[in-house]
Amino acid sequence: MRSPAVADLERLAQRLGSGRVAWGADLLERYAADESTRLRALPEAVVRPRSTEEVAIVLRWASEGPFAVIPRGAGTGVAGGAVAVGGGVVLSLERLDRVLELDEENLTVTCEPAVVTGRLHEVVEAQSLFYPPDPASLASCSIGGNVAVGAGGARAVKYGTTRNYVLGAQVVLADGSVLELGSKNVKDASGYHLLDLLVGSEGTLAVITRVTLRLVPLPSYRAVLLLPFADLKAATTTVARLVRARIVPSVAEFMDDVTIDAARRYLDRDLPGGSRAGAYALIELDGESRSLLEEQMLRVGEVGEQEGALEVLAAQDAGQQERLWESRRCLAEALRALSPEIGKADVVVPRARVPILVDEVKKAGLRHGLVAACFGHAGDGNVHVNFLRQDLDERSWSDRLPQALAEVLEATRRLGGLPSGEHGIGVLKRPDLARFLPSENLEIMRRVKRAFDPLGILNPGKVL
Ligand SMILES: Cc1cc2nc3c(=O)[nH]c(=O)nc-3n(C[C@H](O)[C@H](O)[C@H](O)COP(=O)(O)OP(=O)(O)OC[C@H]3O[C@@H](n4cnc5c(N)ncnc54)[C@H](O)[C@@H]3O)c2cc1C
Repeated sequence: MRSPAVADLERLAQRLGSGRVAWGADLLERYAADESTRLRALPEAVVRPRSTEEVAIVLRWASEGPFAVIPRGAGTGVAGGAVAVGGGVVLSLERLDRVLELDEENLTVTCEPAVVTGRLHEVVEAQSLFYPPDPASLASCSIGGNVAVGAGGARAVKYGTTRNYVLGAQVVLADGSVLELGSKNVKDASGYHLLDLLVGSEGTLAVITRVTLRLVPLPSYRAVLLLPFADLKAATTTVARLVRARIVPSVAEFMDDVTIDAARRYLDRDLPGGSRAGAYALIELDGESRSLLEEQMLRVGEVGEQEGALEVLAAQDAGQQERLWESRRCLAEALRALSPEIGKADVVVPRARVPILVDEVKKAGLRHGLVAACFGHAGDGNVHVNFLRQDLDERSWSDRLPQALAEVLEATRRLGGLPSGEHGIGVLKRPDLARFLPSENLEIMRRVKRAFDPLGILNPGKVL
């Protein structure tokens, strides 16, 4: 892979027209990182096309180099996927940000990749339709980034992740050819499902320039319950018992003792359960029948009390619901306020094994003198692990963190889990993939990569 010289960049700028290509240091700075706290690399240029045709021009130019191209959505990724770690040109999709069509007969919405996920929610919900995937970053992340990573969210327990909603996409391959994949058809048993391969490919196989997403009717009723417990086992057992009783919540989140304390300090107020609360279960229910929802709320309360809930707080009114969500929603900022530097993992295990995994995380923290904070999705087994640096000196931190993270990954593997539930592999978790997947699987992935991108220009060094 070559580094583009100024003459190469000027040639690209000529082909695209004015205002598309930039290589001034000030601007590049904005594209040097994503939301992972451990990575930074200045790209050699940034290209901001306005159409699929322009994306194709960029990739044809890059193939001539060959030059590395790093696709970028909103830069909220936490695995370094959009960071130009080995140099190259960042291809920012930020100007492709139109919602193109809301098809109320076929229950689909078609949009360009830079549409912010939260904005798409508003557009479809205004027509009483629902796009369930809800990454916690939805106020700033983009649909293209969500598709590229296969983003999840709190509602995955009932509704699945982004992958379950992508019906069609327009993509540009590394050689600049444009492909239409999938369609508005709900069913598709017509050959290999290339679209499925692209969901979660993290910008390594193609650039997504348009997406068609499946919608469902917006549920008429919603309720939120917050149950504080003395310990995490009781919180996760409550969720498991609900699922066994055929109550599938739309959200089943948990928080541990350290995260509750972080939220309490950050919000600067007392939180439910007071000082006895060692864990929270945050349950959301939705549906079409108010009476059924109320029955389910009672059942959640009963099960929670049987498992030792310190109290049961329930809300059907939107304002009160937001209040119950507040401690969970503020966690990214609350943990950062405790410790600007955090070592993270986004592991997933079969959901019944969440308490065992959290126990292993805490033990790894104790062994290495690190504070471990865990929260996440009790309903789908995805645990967000956060080791807090706080005031630890640089040497101890860089010695201890890799060991603690390695032990968490080993425990995850033993429990039948995977290294990423929803944040993707990017560059930070690339070594982990080899530890979890058989070499045969990795070899087939490498062949797929070569079939899509024989010169290796798309997001080199990511995933594989
Ligand atoms: C506070 C916070 C909370 C978060 N919560 C969640 C959560 O609940 N669930 C979750 O899944 N994630 C979460 N994330 C992670 C992140 O928001 C998601 O991974 C999101 O999908 C990234 O979207 P983006 O547009 O920012 O993509 P970027 O960060 O710009 O890119 C991510 C990856 O996708 C590729 N890419 C982006 N756009 C395209 C495109 N058009 N074509 C091809 N490749 C592309 C990039 O090359 C990169 O590999 C969170 C992040 C933060 C900071």
